[in-house]
Amino acid sequence: MSNIMLLDQSTINKIAAGEVIERPAAVVKELVENAMDAGASFITVEVKEGGTTLIRITDNGCGIPKEDIPLAFKRHATSKIRNVEDLLHVASLGFRGEALASIASIAQVELITKTGDELVGVRYLIEGGEEKTMEEIGCPEGSTFLIRNLFYNTPARRKFLKSPMTESSYINEVVEKLAISHPQISFKFISNNQTKLYTSGNGSVRDIIYQIYGKDITKELLTVNREEGIVSIEGFIGKPVVSRGNRSYMTYFINGRYVKSSVINKAIEEAYRPFSMAHRYPFTALNFMVASEWIDVNVHPTKMEIRFHDSQVLYGLIYEALHDVLVGKEFIPEIDFEE
Ligand code: ADP
Ligand code: MG
Repeated sequence: MSNIMLLDQSTINKIAAGEVIERPAAVVKELVENAMDAGASFITVEVKEGGTTLIRITDNGCGIPKEDIPLAFKRHATSKIRNVEDLLHVASLGFRGEALASIASIAQVELITKTGDELVGVRYLIEGGEEKTMEEIGCPEGSTFLIRNLFYNTPARRKFLKSPMTESSYINEVVEKLAISHPQISFKFISNNQTKLYTSGNGSVRDIIYQIYGKDITKELLTVNREEGIVSIEGFIGKPVVSRGNRSYMTYFINGRYVKSSVINKAIEEAYRPFSMAHRYPFTALNFMVASEWIDVNVHPTKMEIRFHDSQVLYGLIYEALHDVLVGKEFIPEIDFEE
């Protein structure tokens, strides 16, 4: 008799969900990225109890056509790539077709959505991976996702959650990074009925930095704007006087995607080394634009890791760009910042 058995689909889905959705903040990241991919100019994130009881994400993006809805919640179903070649040129934030399936397998999900072509919208309920209802409803163009009782059927994961306040601060951080990465999108974040962040969507990264980090940091910013070789770098770095004992001030994006990379950390830290004390980390809010052939974002289900075709070249270019700004070689006149 064999001891090996193929797991049933519901178990497979729950295991897979664990990789993408570690905590409520991961739901927020996935759903906001979907809203960005849908071309939204306005995204509202509302949570209760640190996202454990309710996460509501509203966007004014393209909506999901009625006939596509059940498919959107299937694993490996995506409108963003068609084949493995497309992985070389991923322009969207999503492409793995996992988020909705994962979230729906471990929560109670309600979707209200309407495309521009449809006269009425749809309200769709799915719970623990099982479709509950689908009905017509009047609603504006765009999508609203309501995620209730995350991890209700995965007690191990639920136990591992921190206090609602801590979970809410993780969500806050995610929304902040996403807002900085897309200054042309207006974001609103509400936690337990309190507005924690509002960005106007006027395209100014500096305005968002002011909103999040305040005046003291905003007045110590240096502008980075440089195109060289394979990378173009745009954004702000803090003068060396602005520093922290950890990397929480170091934010950067690759082609608008919030990632973490030891190569980039090292390039930034080396550039600052002559100007800062040991174990102090600078402030950055930078976007690196790199040709998609130079990077691989399909490293991990959360897409927070990235692999570079030639990390040494990228390291050198980033180091040099920041070094030049810090030594004042690349002086870009500051526009007076109005409060
Ligand atoms: P992926 O983003 O990798 O394609 P998801 O599971 O996150 O996979 O989403 C599945 C599909 O559902 C997407 O490819 C997209 O077509 C659709 N979708 C999800 N969220 C939205 C949204 N907010 N607006 C429009 N379409 C959406
Ligand atoms: Mg997605």
